[in-house]
Amino acid sequence: MKKITMLKPIVEIDGDEMARVMWRWVKERLIEPYVELKVEYYDLGLKVRDETNDEVTFKAAEAIKRWGVGAKCATITPNKERVKEYNLKKEWRSPNATIREVLDGTIFRAPILVKNIVPAVRFWKKPIVVARHAFGDIYSGVGIRFDEPGEAEVVYRSASGREVKVKLPRLAGSGVLQAYYNLDKSIESFARSVFRYALVNGLDAWFAAKETISKIYDARFKEVFHEVYENDFKDEFEKKGLRYEYYLIDDAYSRAVRSEGGFVWATKNYDGDVLSDMLASAFSGSLAMMTSELMSPEGYYMSEAAHGTVQRHYYKHLKGEKTSSNPTAIIYAWSKALRRRSEIDGLEELARFASALEEATKLTIEDGIVTQDVARASEGPVKAIVTTEEFIEAVRRNVDMLTSQR
Ligand code: NAP
Ligand code: MG
Repeated sequence: MKKITMLKPIVEIDGDEMARVMWRWVKERLIEPYVELKVEYYDLGLKVRDETNDEVTFKAAEAIKRWGVGAKCATITPNKERVKEYNLKKEWRSPNATIREVLDGTIFRAPILVKNIVPAVRFWKKPIVVARHAFGDIYSGVGIRFDEPGEAEVVYRSASGREVKVKLPRLAGSGVLQAYYNLDKSIESFARSVFRYALVNGLDAWFAAKETISKIYDARFKEVFHEVYENDFKDEFEKKGLRYEYYLIDDAYSRAVRSEGGFVWATKNYDGDVLSDMLASAFSGSLAMMTSELMSPEGYYMSEAAHGTVQRHYYKHLKGEKTSSNPTAIIYAWSKALRRRSEIDGLEELARFASALEEATKLTIEDGIVTQDVARASEGPVKAIVTTEEFIEAVRRNVDMLTSQR
């Protein structure tokens, strides 16, 4: 069979542990037999990050700016134990945080739906994608614990020397207080990423906050979303029959549960932190059935699996044991990057392959050929609990079946 050709490369970002092992298997067994794969490869394995003083992470992010599309394998974010384990120079920071900063991007997490994993909410028929604003709010806030009655105020001193003060209500006893901030620029690029993602994926967009109570802070978020939408996205949304809705956060939660899904939900930092984990479990019961995409306001794109390096399984793998780690989200990281590439370069054949690969993966699971994690979460009859390699082989048979039909 003639392989599908590509015009431009995908920035391939390699990672660590079991995710790295699965990453290579997926690439060699499910992509390369069908696609004349063009990649610009960056090895973000922890050893290389250490050897290059993390330069390689910045280079990979810059490469995504050059080529527009990247696919990333999960990487270790080192802590004290990892510094010992890998004999590192220092506790390098999270590569995802670095890449997100360089690209000024937003992370979108979406569940992969299959018939035999029934969402915890029976109304849900389509994915709910969470977009978390990963800047500011309580994550870079300050706090004080006080031990007797007193008073407190927040003072803003501008670079040009102007001063604005606001007083908190009188503190009548011991207690705690907190202050935090956000930046217009960050809120604006968040809104842009969300609207762009909604357009690319044909989804409605929601933003929810509590501006009735938080009359300055949340109200500013609402205002920025409204302005960006009205000025730059409204026409395109209307052309595509899509909608943007602002809801109060409590209303949004209750609507989301009653909805059939099919929208991207933009959340403030804390809401997204909580909501993305809750939705991951409620939709699919396994982290390996969740994808994660980074999109920047300029349209730079990176796909990855939402899970980590699956360390526990890797130690078994190192002992020579076969593991039943689920490569589904990794397969989707590749298929989504291929699809994005195909959209930018206008390669229909490549887009069809990306869809065939996703369909083949779903068919395998829906046929009851599943890894351990899905066996635990699924409702339908399980035909076989398989190893990672057996699962990939089963997907490959389905890809062959689907691509020979075309
Ligand atoms: P994890 O790798 O996501 O694994 C947590 C547990 O979830 C696993 O032990 C496994 O449960 C289950 N799991 C995750 N992915 C699975 C898969 N594909 N198939 C089957 N089961 C799966 O998270 P972690 O153990 O907290 O973190 C491990 C390393 O990953 C850390 O060093 C962390 O820094 C890194 N990490 C990287 C990223 C990223 O690069 N985006 C994200 C998160 C974490 P059982 O053990 O019960 O089978
Ligand atoms: Mg969280």
